[in-house]
Amino acid sequence: MSFYETVTRLEQLPYDTLWSRYTAEDVQRALRAEQVDEEGLMALLSPAAEPYLEEMAQKANRLTRMHFGHVMQLFTPMYLADFCVNHCTYCSFSSIYDYPRKRLTLDEVAREAEVIAATGLRHILILTGESRKDSPASYVKECVEVLRRYFSSVSIEVNPLSTAEYADLREAGVDGLTLYQEVYHQETYRALHIKGPKRVYRNRLDAPERGCQAGFRSVNIGALLGMYEWRREALATALHARYLQDKYPECEIGLAIPRFRPYLGEHNPASDVSDRALVQIILAYRLFLPRSGISLSTREPSALRDHLVHLGITKMSAGVSTEVGGHSLEGGTPQFEISDGRSVSEVVEMLRQQGLEPVFKDWDILSEPLAMS
Ligand code: SF4
Repeated sequence: MSFYETVTRLEQLPYDTLWSRYTAEDVQRALRAEQVDEEGLMALLSPAAEPYLEEMAQKANRLTRMHFGHVMQLFTPMYLADFCVNHCTYCSFSSIYDYPRKRLTLDEVAREAEVIAATGLRHILILTGESRKDSPASYVKECVEVLRRYFSSVSIEVNPLSTAEYADLREAGVDGLTLYQEVYHQETYRALHIKGPKRVYRNRLDAPERGCQAGFRSVNIGALLGMYEWRREALATALHARYLQDKYPECEIGLAIPRFRPYLGEHNPASDVSDRALVQIILAYRLFLPRSGISLSTREPSALRDHLVHLGITKMSAGVSTEVGGHSLEGGTPQFEISDGRSVSEVVEMLRQQGLEPVFKDWDILSEPLAMS
């Protein structure tokens, strides 16, 4: 069994009437439930839940503090390479754009790591464009060996790999995998991914599960919000997370909520995801998956990020550049425009003012296996 069977089932639901059939009573029932089921999740994502956002927020905040405490984990992405063989209609790294591409040397990786580590951050998410030729798993592994000297947690966001390749990277010191499906709706997925291996929907859909099988400590998934009808995409994402959580309880399954941002091209989002809709998605995720981390990126503006920290978010990026080597080199092309350009120290200050403790490090890979008595 794969999550693909659920995706197929979801695509057959009668969406013309589905969301309007949920009532205030359904939302209240979901709010009272100890564990929200699929029906409850749909009620929380439906228009009937809109008048209940305040109640949902109060419960989401209680659940978040109960499971995570008054803390916020901080991390930053680090772009290693922008070569890409795919043509995705929403990304500046797409192969159709003609500009000088770059892949960091190991010395440049060390320099970039020094600059980021000087901000105090100890969790890093490394990214590449998708090119097995220009940034293969072997290159990522070499970079990880450098980065382990600076960071206690190294996660990857690269092209989907095999279970054996993931296991090899885990052995090298990678502890987390981030892989967004981008769009769960299959027809839209095909329309937005015009050329390249990323067109193979199932290879991407099953990759987070391969990451769980390879033994990563955490696996993070998400849909790029704005690419298709947001309620359907949020429903599929949350069910995917629960599928993984139920099947791989030893792995921490996390969710991200990236909204479409301007980039080099002219693609316009098909579905308008308002701030209010984003809030409803976060709250529904938290109520449906009380123990899952939810991360918030600098795609969102600072004022909104400051507001969202109390609604279920457990992880934030800070001090972000979306260019290859953007912390120590100049002249790169950003993958997309960020919105919150604050430094790490400014985000730390904001969190403390809001009564939250920023966490730079909550994980270390043991250099020796644990001795069992
Ligand atoms: S989204 Fe990923 S795969 Fe698509 S063009 Fe950008 S870097 Fe390449």
